[in-house]
Amino acid sequence: MGSEPGTIVVVEDDPNIADLIDMYLRRDGHRVISVDRGQAGLDAVERERPRLVILDIGLPGDMDGFEVCRRIRASSRVPVLMLTARDEEIDRVVGFELGADDYVTKPFSPRELAARVKAIIRRADGPPATTEATVVDLGAVEVDLGRREARISGASGAEAQVVALATREFDLLAYLARNRGLALSRQQLLDGVWGHGWYGDERTVDVHVGQLRKKLGPALDLRTVWGVGYRLD
Ligand code: CA
Repeated sequence: MGSEPGTIVVVEDDPNIADLIDMYLRRDGHRVISVDRGQAGLDAVERERPRLVILDIGLPGDMDGFEVCRRIRASSRVPVLMLTARDEEIDRVVGFELGADDYVTKPFSPRELAARVKAIIRRADGPPATTEATVVDLGAVEVDLGRREARISGASGAEAQVVALATREFDLLAYLARNRGLALSRQQLLDGVWGHGWYGDERTVDVHVGQLRKKLGPALDLRTVWGVGYRLD
């Protein structure tokens, strides 16, 4: 099936939130290890080899969630779901190369969190057999839906360069590529890429579009359509 329950490490210093997360994850059959400090989180990740880490950004002590995520990434590809409380944190989570797989903004509904956890685990378990193995050719940019890779073709004869994209950045690019030539509203993009259960605001789309433009540069013909949203040509 691919989304079997497993061990999840939760790093959250607010006991009420930690309890709530614990309750919902256990209900889905997961084994939950809760800790309230960054270092304890790192230790738990190393010891337990979890399926997923849920990581609060604002942690007491000298290591915040950003730093914990960086250190996890130094040695592990375990999926990380960040819990953010403030706007500036969201910008850092989506804008920086921390390697977090997703984030949820506080206050969140536990049901949404549980759904997100399920989606991340499913994704991390590898593509299902039905995954399209197609490559969308956008001219200077190739979007490889099977390998989940974006490539910029070099000058004639040169190797195409793979561009490192975060999970959601690739999802957004793939969605735009599948709907090439259509003007899509921010809400359509949120629904299509983040899913209908997503409560994030439309600025999330703008931040990700900004990242795609920055990383893929002029090779990507991604237009702002005033009063509507975005269109990939
Ligand atoms: Ca906190």
